[in-house]
Amino acid sequence: MYQDLKGKNALVTGSGKKSGIGYAIAQKLAESGVNIIITDLLKMEDRDQQHISDNREEMTALAEDLARQFAIRALFVAVDVTDNTSIKQMVGLVKSRFENVQILCNNAGTVFGVPSAIHTYDDDAWFKTLDVNLNGVFRVSKAVIPLMIETGGCVINIASRAAKVPPLFNGAYAVAKAGIVMLTKVMARELAGSNIRVNAVCPGVITTDFTRWRFDLEARILNSTKEEREAEMVQTIPLGRLGSSEEVANLVAFLASSQSSYMTGQAINVTGGQLMEL
Ligand code: NAD
Repeated sequence: MYQDLKGKNALVTGSGKKSGIGYAIAQKLAESGVNIIITDLLKMEDRDQQHISDNREEMTALAEDLARQFAIRALFVAVDVTDNTSIKQMVGLVKSRFENVQILCNNAGTVFGVPSAIHTYDDDAWFKTLDVNLNGVFRVSKAVIPLMIETGGCVINIASRAAKVPPLFNGAYAVAKAGIVMLTKVMARELAGSNIRVNAVCPGVITTDFTRWRFDLEARILNSTKEEREAEMVQTIPLGRLGSSEEVANLVAFLASSQSSYMTGQAINVTGGQLMEL
């Protein structure tokens, strides 16, 4: 609980899935009395492109749950972070219902075209990965920061350990996430005079659908099992386990609160010690 967050308005992209990091962030902020705008793709694409489901009802219910549970205002707004028209509609709605935003968490992310080495990477998959992960942060920040300028606030961008340590055969994602770290630093310098702090969070391996999908994919490629992949991964993590969405959300709430008032332009690892830097 951070008392100073009470009554602030937060927009979290990619937060419409109960099992994801984005919803855990929304929930953690709501616990401190923050009003929440849950935003996500209305039609979620399966990473293997096997099905597309319309989740409006489910995501509206998630927002209603938060409103009821924490006595806050909460709203679901559909957005595709690769589409400026959709972002403009989202911002119009947020402005009319909430007037301003003090916390923006750019969390939406995904991968396309993996596994692939750079010299065989499909062009469309490469551009799509950069478009969601990196350009999405640029587009949403550009659209939402004007709603923050009068009151000041915080932007928290979800990058990845992959921004700092090159993963194998997942190049577009790593390059996009590294781009987010530099974008964070640029924004931090440009917005410091407007009382807006900008930081990035670099999660390691966190138990979400994203990670389950990844272990599944690796198991198929390596002719192994998901359980074996997970056990091998755990061996590389000093704390000896995968992380939880809540542990990422805890860091985001801290970065949004005045407890981190002297921090801006940082990219902080939450990896169970898997990544240690000087
Ligand atoms: P997830 O797949 O559960 O959630 C990602 C969310 O982003 C989904 O709700 C999805 O619908 C949304 N999204 C995708 N494309 C979008 C678009 N074009 N417009 C709007 N929303 C879109 O994954 P997660 O594990 O919760 O990941 C959340 C963030 O954390 C991502 O940025 C991911 O890269 C990052 N991350 C995750 C891990 C991990 O181990 N899970 C590690 C490092 C970084």
